[in-house]
Amino acid sequence: MKIFAETKKRFKLSMIIVILVASVISPAISNAYEYYGWWNDPYKMIPGISSGTYIVDTIDNYNYNGKVFMFQTAWNSAMDEWNNRTEANIQNSINVSGPERIRMRGENYGNVGLQGWVTVYKNNVVVGDGDATPLPVTSGWDYAIATLNAHSLRDYTYPQYRAVGIHELGHALGLNHETDGTPSIMNDKLYPPNSYLVPQQDDINGINNLY
Ligand SMILES: [Zn+2]
Repeated sequence: MKIFAETKKRFKLSMIIVILVASVISPAISNAYEYYGWWNDPYKMIPGISSGTYIVDTIDNYNYNGKVFMFQTAWNSAMDEWNNRTEANIQNSINVSGPERIRMRGENYGNVGLQGWVTVYKNNVVVGDGDATPLPVTSGWDYAIATLNAHSLRDYTYPQYRAVGIHELGHALGLNHETDGTPSIMNDKLYPPNSYLVPQQDDINGINNLY
């Protein structure tokens, strides 16, 4: 009987330890998203992301060596992903008026080793690049140019290059790369067919907690 009581006591104690440890670890797991700048004062889109417009500065039926890209449709759809899933509300300038916050491009930029990238500006001056090294983001921004590179996307399907567009817009809205393995469209080490195709819960939390 004594042994049983002791086992029970030990079990209770170990359960308390498990709960304590879990409560310490879980915030890190549920908040894995990364921002630019300082953890307690991250850089972001200075005017916020709940207004403003974007311009799609590319076309559908873009032909690169016989591969046809639907760049315009992909960019519109990529922005919809963030507008529909997060607090973001940046609309196509064709439909609403307002200050331009994001310009989206898509064409052949050659063998530069990047499927896409985004450059951020403050008062018309470049303050960083979300993908191309070595241009770290050094301040908040009020404007972003997001790019898709036909050359490096030539073997990508529509959902796959659309996902690169979603990734670049994630940068434009404030997310840095996700590096700890949490499911995220901001992971920059996963390539098709292993990359994510839509924003994941951690990405959605990351945007909504930033603004
Ligand atoms: Zn990136």
